[in-house]
Amino acid sequence: MSQHRKWYCSCRGKPLELSVVEIVEDEPAEPTCQRCGASPSSDPRHTITYKDEENWED
Ligand SMILES: [Zn+2]
Repeated sequence: MSQHRKWYCSCRGKPLELSVVEIVEDEPAEPTCQRCGASPSSDPRHTITYKDEENWED
């Protein structure tokens, strides 16, 4: 079982799921909003939210 965190940005009013783009193996990938540029560590307007989903199939 593993946990998968889904990120959302609600800059357009309704939460939009963000996709995590993996760049380099050793660097932690961070989801970034394509519309406003916000990310979990840079969220000036507090539009970033997340939801943890448990995956029992792992
Ligand atoms: Zn946004």
